[in-house]
This record gives sequence, structure tokens and C-alpha cells, in this order.
Amino acid sequence: METKLSRRLEAVASYVPQGARLADVGSDHAYLPLFLVEQGRIDFAVAGEVVQGPYQSALQNVEQAGQSDKISVRLANGLAAVELDDQVSTVTIAGMGGRLIAEILEAGKDKLGSVERLVLQPNNREDDVRRWLVEHDFQLIAEEILEENDKIYEILVAEKGNVGLTADQLRFGPYLLEEQSATFQKKWLKELDKLTYALEQVPLERQADRSAISQKIQQIQEVLHVSK
Ligand code: SAM
Repeated sequence: METKLSRRLEAVASYVPQGARLADVGSDHAYLPLFLVEQGRIDFAVAGEVVQGPYQSALQNVEQAGQSDKISVRLANGLAAVELDDQVSTVTIAGMGGRLIAEILEAGKDKLGSVERLVLQPNNREDDVRRWLVEHDFQLIAEEILEENDKIYEILVAEKGNVGLTADQLRFGPYLLEEQSATFQKKWLKELDKLTYALEQVPLERQADRSAISQKIQQIQEVLHVSK
């Protein structure tokens, strides 16, 4: 049976180049590498998982699909799953917090020598991921924002290069900011509501906290061209 992906993972998969040697970190069921192998898009992948349960399910799925010769399922923390001999050219890390993704990249940066592309899908704190990229000579080449099951996801695609980002670009994403799609506006209007509510809860005497929240609110209002 062919692997069917969520819209979110399908979007992540679409940024993996044809013929890439893939490392999928946090692979859970190994759906992403299985899909790419079944589609004939890649013929080598490492599926890395740090937790026993998801590791076993990845292993089982790969064996049942008869793809063990193409997908190596490994129990390991982050990029420790990758050996230099694997000659990995693309790394995908999806469905985790942005801070964790940045930590995984930082801890495994020695493994990124042969890597040409990173495809990252943080569930939050996208700015932490963009900051890590800028500080480690990766530059964004594409971004996508999409909604599925009432959740909004961002996908960040980076390759080697050193284009800096402004404070607005770090927070909102240079391509997403430029495009200002309906989903982007929805995400940030929701965030604006959350911050406005949070500000109302902070007592007047906590000036520092209030001004930090106010600044975030103002930044969103400026970007979306709205006032409240
Ligand atoms: N990547 C899949 C996706 O996007 O649908 C699975 C996402 S799932 C929410 C996150 C997975 O990452 C979990 O299976 C978790 O065990 C794994 N994970 C978390 N931290 C990890 C780490 N440091 N190294 C490897 N896997 C990790």
C-alpha cells in the first residue's frame, strides 16, 4: 500500500530535490522517506528517531514496505543518526518546536558538511530557526505557510549562503512577509489577539513586561498595516 501524507508533510516532501540523499530527523512512522522512495524521488534515506515507540513503528513500516535496502531506520538523538559516509545532501526536520529544531541543528552541525539543503517545519518559534540559519551560513531560498486541521504551519527551506535578515524578516519570514498570503494574515491576526489579551492581563506596574508585549503588538500592526 502506498504511503499517503498529510498536506503538511506533502509540502515538506515537495522541497526535497530529486535524487537527494535524505536524513529525516524525528521520522516517527517514516512516512516522509517512504513516500519519497515510493514516488521514485529518492533512493537513499536515513530515518532517525530518538524515542523507542516511534522508532519501532518506523522500522516496522519500512520493513513491511520492503524498502529496508533504501531506508535505514536508526535510533539516535538528532543528527547523531547521520554518519559522514551517508553523504546526506538534504535534511528534513518536521513537526517539532522551533527551539528544538535549532538545538538539533546546533548539536549536529558537524554532520552538515555534505548537506546542501535543509527543509524545516517548526510548529512554533520559527524565528529561533531563522536565527540559527543566519548565524550558521544558511540562507532561506523558499518559505511556505499552510493551514491544515485548524493549525497553521510554516516550512522553511535553506541552502548554504549568508544573506542576513532584518528583525521583521526573522520574525515573519522574508518570503512570507513579502507574499502576505491570507493564511499569513490569519496567523498574525490571531497572534495579535493573543498578545492584546495578554497585555490586558499584565498589571500596570509591570512596565517592562508591558512594553515587551506592546512592542510585539506594534510590530505585527505595522507589518499587517492594521491599527487597534
Ligand atoms: N516528522 C514527523 C512529522 O512531521 O509528522 C513526526 C513529527 S513528531 C510530532 C516528532 C518526532 O520527533 C517524534 O517522533 C519524536 O520522538 C521525534 N524527536 C523529538 N526529538 C528528537 C531528537 N532530538 N532526535 C530524533 N527524533 C526526535
